[in-house]
Amino acid sequence: MSQRNEALRDASFIGLGILIFAVLVYRLVQLQVVEGPEYREKSEDNRIRFVEMPAPRGVIRDRHGYLLVSNRPSYTCYGVPRDLFRDSIAVEHLGFAIARDPQEMREVQLRPYRNAFRPQRLRRDLPYPLLARFEETRDRIPGAYLEIEPKRFYPGNVAAHAIGYVAEISDDELSKYPGLQSGDLVGKRGLEKLYDKDLRGVKGNRLSVVDVHGQEVHTEQSLGRIEPVPGQELWTSLDIFGQMLAESLLTDKIGSVVAMDVRTGGIVVMASAPSYDPDIFAGSISSADWNALLNDPDKPMLNRSVQTMYPPGSTIKPAMLIEGLNSGVISPSWGVSCPGSFTYGNRTFKCWKKGGHGYIDCTQSLAQSCDVFYYKLGLLLGVDGINRAFTRFHLGSQTGIDQTSEASGLVPSREYYDKRYGANGWSTGFLVSVSIGQGEMLATPLQLCAFAAAIANDGVWKRPFLVDGVYDPSTHVLQKRAPAEEIASDVPLSMIEMAQRGMTEVVWGAAGTARKQQDDSCRIAGKTGTAQNAHGDDHGWFICYGPVDNPMYSCCALIEFGKSGSGAGGPVAGEVLRQLIRRELYPELYKKKSEDETEPEVEPQLEPIAENRTP
Ligand SMILES: [Zn+2]
Repeated sequence: MSQRNEALRDASFIGLGILIFAVLVYRLVQLQVVEGPEYREKSEDNRIRFVEMPAPRGVIRDRHGYLLVSNRPSYTCYGVPRDLFRDSIAVEHLGFAIARDPQEMREVQLRPYRNAFRPQRLRRDLPYPLLARFEETRDRIPGAYLEIEPKRFYPGNVAAHAIGYVAEISDDELSKYPGLQSGDLVGKRGLEKLYDKDLRGVKGNRLSVVDVHGQEVHTEQSLGRIEPVPGQELWTSLDIFGQMLAESLLTDKIGSVVAMDVRTGGIVVMASAPSYDPDIFAGSISSADWNALLNDPDKPMLNRSVQTMYPPGSTIKPAMLIEGLNSGVISPSWGVSCPGSFTYGNRTFKCWKKGGHGYIDCTQSLAQSCDVFYYKLGLLLGVDGINRAFTRFHLGSQTGIDQTSEASGLVPSREYYDKRYGANGWSTGFLVSVSIGQGEMLATPLQLCAFAAAIANDGVWKRPFLVDGVYDPSTHVLQKRAPAEEIASDVPLSMIEMAQRGMTEVVWGAAGTARKQQDDSCRIAGKTGTAQNAHGDDHGWFICYGPVDNPMYSCCALIEFGKSGSGAGGPVAGEVLRQLIRRELYPELYKKKSEDETEPEVEPQLEPIAENRTP
């Protein structure tokens, strides 16, 4: 480069420098002299901004360590009301930038705080096209800025009901959660709600320097910065593979599947259909979306596994048989002749088999599910005996699982009838229906799954649970839950074994009602049930456990409008149960498959921590 060119370049740089300097001087004079008083106030109040940093919420894992719920980064738009109101059309520009109604934003989100410097959260989880638009508009929206915040993310999108969801704290909740502020996210249902305190973590904050337009210039470390403390992890007993299978089997159906590890009481599957997308609550759900969910006649928000009570139908017959034997009103050699119906007083009650079963003994009463056998047994037991038969297995009261709004079910008692009909207003005729799980009797799928587990466990009932431990990723400390509470059996083993034999015959007997569930590679026992439904086709139940000789899991399926237990409930519960057992007994079979990338469709994320987990 020649000297002449160099000189020219130097000169132009000097010229540019002078020009910039002149502009700065002009601006300085304008700010200090012309707009001085106003700017000084603004600069002193607003030069440093206090920014809160939400803590990443604890993740939720299945029993192998797979992530059921995680977090992903998202952009949240904040606005400082006082800055935005300085410019008469800034809110309009902002409304365009983040696709929100400016009128609503101004009146609802900003005006109540119009003189405040405290930033207000205006929109969570800005999608990418809007990020670009925000950047283009930035000069015209003083005081609006973006923050990167963690947002709930559902890798496999499974177990929405059991997990629950998070949403912005309501006015009512503000008083219940000290330390939280309007706009913060809290768990609203399921595990997210019950373990909110563990999951939440501790917010951090920083002081940042902002320019005259309210834009952050840089973060001043020395001014103070407290990092957020991440929330604790929930290590659940859920099994993502069993859960995905159950949910796929419930496609286009209304119903529930619950499975339990009978050795621990841990719930490995809790599925309810139809389901919903918990993701829609993590932003700010529109009232139209919310109403659509609430008014959906199929009630997708309902966790049918624990919140819905149905007549359990014949699934509870094993409990009746056990109490019959235990109380001594019948002996193991007792039997009845079933002509297809039973008349009591002036009413005739039908057996499900029109022509009748002929002679039926104790084992066959379960295998063939003869109603007449149980009508007669129920009358022999009386109201107190029937009540004992069911409450022994914790039916009629909440199981106490870590879920919100658990229904208690209903087991009628003498007090119940007296209260409802008056001391002389009811007769033992009421008991005939209750004896086959109809009438007043109600149960949840979870209760019946725990009941099946108790039969598998020789009569010992275990309190089901979902969260096995709470893990602190900062200290690497795992707080494992105490073993599930147990209610010891008060019945001789031989009587439980009779029920077990009957349930085995349901599947393996020549006349069993669930013979379609025979599979020599995995021997299961079960009981079908059909629940009368006043609103349409009957509901179909199937409860089961297996393997018969050394039980590992129990499972319960309820299919609304499924018509029958053997046709609708059996194939679903049987399939889920067998897969859970096979995956545990023959893991190599399933490993091969996933190496071929044939399954699962949504590969869950496995983090190294999972290797340290004990199942
Ligand atoms: Zn019969």
